[in-house]
Amino acid sequence: MALLSSSGVTKVYKSGEEQFLALDNVSVEIQKGESVAITGKSGSGKSTLMHILALLDRPSSGEVSLNGMPTKSFSDNKLGKARNETFGFVFQQFFLNANETVLENTVLPLEIAGVPLSQRNKLGTELLEELGLGDKVRNKAVDLSGGQKQRVAIARALVNSPQVIFADEPTGNLDSKTGQQVEELLFDLNKNHGITLVCVTHDPEFASKFDRIIEVSDGRIVGRDSTVVPETDLSEIIERSVRDAVSKAVAQAFSENGENK
Ligand code: ADP
Ligand code: MG
Repeated sequence: MALLSSSGVTKVYKSGEEQFLALDNVSVEIQKGESVAITGKSGSGKSTLMHILALLDRPSSGEVSLNGMPTKSFSDNKLGKARNETFGFVFQQFFLNANETVLENTVLPLEIAGVPLSQRNKLGTELLEELGLGDKVRNKAVDLSGGQKQRVAIARALVNSPQVIFADEPTGNLDSKTGQQVEELLFDLNKNHGITLVCVTHDPEFASKFDRIIEVSDGRIVGRDSTVVPETDLSEIIERSVRDAVSKAVAQAFSENGENK
């Protein structure tokens, strides 16, 4: 069973009289443990798709399932709880609270989850030490470099032990060397810590490093690797390969018979 799936998802943005179809009949699956890049040009619908898969936004039609559970009937509260327990988020703009300390920023998801102060500070400090930010725990976020800010954002994404990290252009505001370090950290979490990684990027080089690419163009999924093979196609493929194997076996038996004669 897929960890996450969307089935026939559309997203319509309305502004006044105008309607804009940002996602058009999108069906994708994310399996546990894989790393997936969502790519495409600016405005193609990448962030919209990520937000919907991450339960940050609801589709206009279609269904999103988490561990096989349809989420359409979830209340906003239940959706928020599922999100906070299952996902961690990293954004291009970091979204840290500038005047709070690195530790306060990091433990925010634990605060939301109702974990007591002493416990969340212990967990947050340990995590920040692991991420090489042990000496910045009491610094205000505003005093950090871009790379350090994104590391804090990643610490905040990790503090709830999420199954999935969603990252939207995580290196978009970083110089190439710092961006590289953030890329390496994200892939390390995926490869060595079993965290499923779903990352929006318009950078083809970054995208090529993922297990799989989902390419979006004008709100639709394009490209060979991207589409989920519908069951009918799959059974056709299996049927065809069985047919091939049988006809090969028959042909072989026939030629052996021929030789025996
Ligand atoms: P990407 O992340 O690929 O750059 P987005 O998913 O952010 O693209 O946006 C896809 C399209 O939907 C764009 O044309 C964008 O202008 C439009 N869009 C995104 N968010 C909104 C919104 N809240 N209201 C109206 N239109 C939006
Ligand atoms: Mg975007």
